[in-house]
Amino acid sequence: MTPKEVIALAKEKGCKILDLRFCDFPGTWQHTSYPISELTEDCFEEGFGFDGSSIRGWQAINESDMLLKPQADTAFIDPFREIPTLCLICNIADPVTGSDYTRDPRNIAKKSIEHMRSTGIADTCFIGPEAEFFVFDNVQYDSQRDTSFYSINSTEAVWNSGADEGPNLGHKIRLKEGYFPCPPTDTLMDLRSAMIMHMLDAGIPVECHHHEVATAGQCEIDMRFSDLVAMGDMLMKYKYIVKSTAHAFGKSATFMPKPVFEDNGSGMHTHLSLWKDSKPLFAGDGYAGLSETALFAVGGVLKHAAALIAFTNPTTISYKRLVPGYEAPVNLAISQRNRSASVRIPVYSKSPKAKRFEFRCPDPTANGYLAFSALLMAALDGIQNKIDPGNPLDVNIYDLSPEEAAGIPKTPASLEEALAALEKDHEFLLKGDVFTPDVIETWINYKMENEVDELRLRPHPHEFMMYYDI
Ligand code: GLU
Ligand code: MG
Ligand code: MG
Repeated sequence: MTPKEVIALAKEKGCKILDLRFCDFPGTWQHTSYPISELTEDCFEEGFGFDGSSIRGWQAINESDMLLKPQADTAFIDPFREIPTLCLICNIADPVTGSDYTRDPRNIAKKSIEHMRSTGIADTCFIGPEAEFFVFDNVQYDSQRDTSFYSINSTEAVWNSGADEGPNLGHKIRLKEGYFPCPPTDTLMDLRSAMIMHMLDAGIPVECHHHEVATAGQCEIDMRFSDLVAMGDMLMKYKYIVKSTAHAFGKSATFMPKPVFEDNGSGMHTHLSLWKDSKPLFAGDGYAGLSETALFAVGGVLKHAAALIAFTNPTTISYKRLVPGYEAPVNLAISQRNRSASVRIPVYSKSPKAKRFEFRCPDPTANGYLAFSALLMAALDGIQNKIDPGNPLDVNIYDLSPEEAAGIPKTPASLEEALAALEKDHEFLLKGDVFTPDVIETWINYKMENEVDELRLRPHPHEFMMYYDI
């Protein structure tokens, strides 16, 4: 879409409000609204000024003026606003120099593609994320209290999720059997269908939707793969539509990776393939029908996995999902079938075009722009340095001797561990100035100070259970 076409669309749909959106450093959409009269062809060039000093992880107060540059090809009509509203996703620029802001996640994603092209390896990187989420009827927490308190209710939950409030007119789902009986057991089909209607209207190609394995309202909607930057944009729209549709149904959706103890968590398995001159580069006659290029790409992902995971699994609760027994990966290895391996090669299709790898570690608390870029950078590093992915983990892990099982490298056990790995291993991210040293340092400090320490300093409700009567 060109700026002219965006203005025509706003007219056609009777839009009265222009809403500008951008992704902050941790990965949440921020926005600011204008009367639609501000939408002119010039505004795409000139941008809109705003104060970046209160945006998480961004500018210091003395250099806080920034510019929002709307991107015409991201336009969509917000289906949830009473007053017709046109939304545009923005890049962030410095008003003095006019250059793109180095801590803008979308800018990092654009640079990762420029870097990929500059290597001559590929011209296109397709990304397909499977972002799972939970829908609850009621979630309460009080962040002001010294001891965190929360309760979750779900009409679908039987075992784990607190009080069983409200009517449940379907059959209750047994533990870990959410995947995927028909309604009325699946109470969320209409909600997911409403979500995908909004997604299609917003220009997101959707492949399917379904209930997921967890008992308490776990869902998945799969988008068709797309270019890396476009997929970063789509993931933001996806989360917005999931949360807003649930809200409109009187429910709430969460992308927290492990909201329910002893049930499956929410992952964001991410499929990646590289193409050059409209030809797929990953099909070949190596392991699982992969090319040498694809195997080296996987080698890079596995070699840098611990550091990469600081971006793909960036929250303290991410590591409560990466444990055995819930289809989440724990072994840093490649496999065709083993879902406990962090890189899986899907075998659904024999077509060379469908050849890709699936990195199973990411979860939907990731900032898509940063996570996809970091994944691409690890894959490119693997290709450039011909990194061997190691032996496939196609055996049943329970058939291995304890020594053999212990020899397989594991995913980091905590956010702190992943951040320490990133501190040691980030040269591969700095190539082409994609992630600057400032971005790496700011990410580590932001996460340590605002998340790791904030959790570490609080008494946990479960500590009352274990220690109150000691
Ligand atoms: N929920 C699982 C995870 O945490 C994935 C289930 C699936 O294979 O789709 O990764
Ligand atoms: Mg799934
Ligand atoms: Mg998957």
